[in-house]
Amino acid sequence: MPSINPVGASVAAVLQNAANARRFPHCFLVSGGSDASRRETARYIAAMIECTGERRPCGKCRDCRKISENVHPDLTVVETGGKSATVRLEDVRAIRETSALPPGEGRARVYVIPEADRLRVEGQNALLKITEEPPEFVYIVFCAESRSALLPTMLSRLYQIELGAAQADASGKALRKAGDACRAAVDALCSADAYALAAAIRAAGKDRNDISLFAGQLRLILRDAMMRGADGFSGQPEQAERLAERFSFERLAGLMGAAEYAVEAAARNANVNLMVSMLAMKLSDAAGI
Ligand SMILES: [Zn+2]
Repeated sequence: MPSINPVGASVAAVLQNAANARRFPHCFLVSGGSDASRRETARYIAAMIECTGERRPCGKCRDCRKISENVHPDLTVVETGGKSATVRLEDVRAIRETSALPPGEGRARVYVIPEADRLRVEGQNALLKITEEPPEFVYIVFCAESRSALLPTMLSRLYQIELGAAQADASGKALRKAGDACRAAVDALCSADAYALAAAIRAAGKDRNDISLFAGQLRLILRDAMMRGADGFSGQPEQAERLAERFSFERLAGLMGAAEYAVEAAARNANVNLMVSMLAMKLSDAAGI
């Protein structure tokens, strides 16, 4: 019997966190892991949205079952045409058009793009508006091997879930340490103190996971700052607000790129010392200090 197969406990916890945010995110990016695990996670998110059971996703209700069998009328999976193919522009346009219609039998329309890395720039541009202001009953899940395939403007609008990343497996203590380092880094950025910024990054920890965790949280805060507190995924709204007051959108996007760099470098097992120096330099450059 098909079932909504869970994603690892850590990813489920991240999603539960998302569910506890002021507003359940409408647009997700699932990256890392295998193609199969990304699709599984997308299905899990779709089931969380459509489920009519008590503990969502219950895996038993009509909606959960239809999603697990890939026959839910409100779930649209946008596939590419073949190995070298990209996501067709006409399919992207169809998302835009159908997203204006109310759902058929479920709570919402859910679109999944399993190979969003094959979404061309024009396709991404066509989806910018809908990711910026998604209609109340529309959700989109992008899946990609690596986030770098998506435009920064697009990335800033997505709730990002990295399979197998340090973020998903971190302990509460590690998260708090990263949070403290982020606060110190925001202080340093706002007061244009490059020396304090480098110290804040060093205080995040000595190993790759510590830096990845720090950069991952900083990225969320920057995302919230760029969205001007529209929803708030970072759990550090006051830091986001300070950044939003101090920096222009372009500067914030540059800072986001620097944090992005560190998360990806950590995933590639880059040398830690080098990564820390590069991150400090890139953040300073982006902030103009
Ligand atoms: Zn259910």
